[in-house]
Amino acid sequence: MPINILKTLLPGKVSFEEKDLLFHAGDFWPRKLLIQRLGQKLILPKAVVRPQSVEDIQTLLTWANKEKVAVIPYGGGSGVCGGTQVLEESVSLDLRGLNKILEIDENSSTVRAQAGILGPDLEDVLNKKGFTLNHFPASFHISTLGGWISTRASGQLSTGFGSIEDILLALKVVLPNGHLLETKLTPRSSTGPSLNHLFLGSEGTLGVIVEATCQMYRVPSEREFLSFSFQTLSEALLAIRTLVQKNIFPAVIRLYDEVDTQMALSEIGLQASGNLLVLMFQGEKEMVEAQKSVAQKIFSQKGLSLGEKPASHWWEHRFDLNEKKVAQILSQEGMILDTLEVATTWNHLETLYLEMKKVIESEITVLAHFSHFYMTGGSIYFTFVGSTEEKEVLNKYDAVWDKAMEACLKVGGTISHHHGIGLLKKKWIQKELQEGWSVLSQIKKTIDPNAILNPKKLL
Ligand SMILES: Cc1cc2nc3c(=O)[nH]c(=O)nc-3n(C[C@H](O)[C@H](O)[C@H](O)COP(=O)(O)OP(=O)(O)OC[C@H]3O[C@@H](n4cnc5c(N)ncnc54)[C@H](O)[C@@H]3O)c2cc1C
Repeated sequence: MPINILKTLLPGKVSFEEKDLLFHAGDFWPRKLLIQRLGQKLILPKAVVRPQSVEDIQTLLTWANKEKVAVIPYGGGSGVCGGTQVLEESVSLDLRGLNKILEIDENSSTVRAQAGILGPDLEDVLNKKGFTLNHFPASFHISTLGGWISTRASGQLSTGFGSIEDILLALKVVLPNGHLLETKLTPRSSTGPSLNHLFLGSEGTLGVIVEATCQMYRVPSEREFLSFSFQTLSEALLAIRTLVQKNIFPAVIRLYDEVDTQMALSEIGLQASGNLLVLMFQGEKEMVEAQKSVAQKIFSQKGLSLGEKPASHWWEHRFDLNEKKVAQILSQEGMILDTLEVATTWNHLETLYLEMKKVIESEITVLAHFSHFYMTGGSIYFTFVGSTEEKEVLNKYDAVWDKAMEACLKVGGTISHHHGIGLLKKKWIQKELQEGWSVLSQIKKTIDPNAILNPKKLL
């Protein structure tokens, strides 16, 4: 690979240092951490490029396209599916140097920022001006705006304020041939298929997102909490469906299954059987009171009120189970831990839960919560955790995923609600998308005929 030329093309912006290469060998995919624990070697990128401008990225891609060198866009590296994992001779393109907020338009409620900005750096500036993005993935502190868009991320307040696709308004993308594509900033348009949506979830395979304009909200004046316990999951799900189908969407609705409930309640020294439901309402006082009062009426019919504490405690500790804790657990011999996030319509939601739980618990301990709700359905977030003989960890890990994904597809669920595909779910994406897969593959071939952008991943 004629890689040394990069030093001349992008002077001072290229690193060949071992620790840089190792950091960029992949993301936070638990299987990668298991592989490292087992002492197996990761493939390292040949170089890490840190652009300071859009032109730097255009220079890199124009060169890479000519030389047919693979380039892997790298945001915060918090992905959990192996989206940035190196598979062949590649250059890692670290976007975190592109981290400026370029414009805040208070009249239009929009913010334009560079794609490498981390969650807190964007949110803190907005908060000082009285605004918020209302987009808080649990990885908020270590993930970037470009990464959120590339993975179609979803945050903790998605029930109230939608996911990244609901707040994204416009994009700037460097295409594999080095050309710059810009979508128009407008509240909506009817100018053919949405190009924003082409890049949402494209996982670095179609272009490098360099800038995005998002919708922002006013910082809420009021935030209130409610918690309930339900004897059965069915009763709780029915109550939630009743609420959201009245078009009432609290900022947060989280329903824990029995195993997850015991974990959540033990943290605050509370005891209650059944399924814990926590709710957070935010906005203008009158609105919050109105939403709360309808919710209280619906949830009190079958649920037992547990007051504010479980919900406010969750809110205060919502970032506690972070990447460091997960890495610490996965550093222990024999340990396995990962999460699966699936979704389906109300008709199938409980069946999806039961079927996936059944196959996962035939292998390992599993707990779950439902945390993103829609008029039409919801998502389920399973955590599987346990230990086995060290030499068996990869087999066990793969067996859980195989069984869980097959069960999900059989019931008609989507294999990913918000983490994306990466390497982890590549095996099942064709089965889910069917003819859509060949359409996406054709698009990839047209935009990236030399297959330089994140090859052998999603597309
Ligand atoms: C502890 C923890 C909690 C998490 N919680 C959530 C959660 O609540 N919700 C959620 O949705 N996800 C969550 N995730 C997953 C992860 O944080 C998200 O997928 C996040 O959106 C990834 O952003 P990133 O900047 O780290 O991207 P990376 O991991 O660096 O990259 C992800 C993918 O996007 C591509 N990419 C990155 N930046 C660009 C760009 N500018 N242009 C083109 N392609 C690009 C990469 O090539 C890769 O394929 C969590 C992860 C961890 C470790």
